[in-house]
Amino acid sequence: MKRKLLHLLVCPADDCFPLELYVFEETDEVNAGVLFCSRCLRWYPIKKKTPELLHDKSRVQSADLAFLCAWKRFLPQKIVTTGKPFNLNSATENHLKKKRKRKMKRVKESALVVELI
Ligand SMILES: [Zn+2]
Repeated sequence: MKRKLLHLLVCPADDCFPLELYVFEETDEVNAGVLFCSRCLRWYPIKKKTPELLHDKSRVQSADLAFLCAWKRFLPQKIVTTGKPFNLNSATENHLKKKRKRKMKRVKESALVVELI
């Protein structure tokens, strides 16, 4: 993505502009980075020089989280921990919820076994 195109890009969720630009790798163009909407807190990856300005429903959570994880040290906390539609806090929360649910299921199963004995 050419930096000079930044002023043409709007957030697909709320048409807000300009978007904030965070650059991870740059040659003649931004190779990798993030575009951030300060109004709705959505972030959009720039991969292989291409900004992916997609609506939430078109985004792939696992790919976005992997991208976020790989570049988190270059990003401000507002994106890493509270950015939308996905951030590493919600990923951790979801992971912990699933873990708790699995543990509860095991507890219930063992309680059932105790009842049966
Ligand atoms: Zn927005």
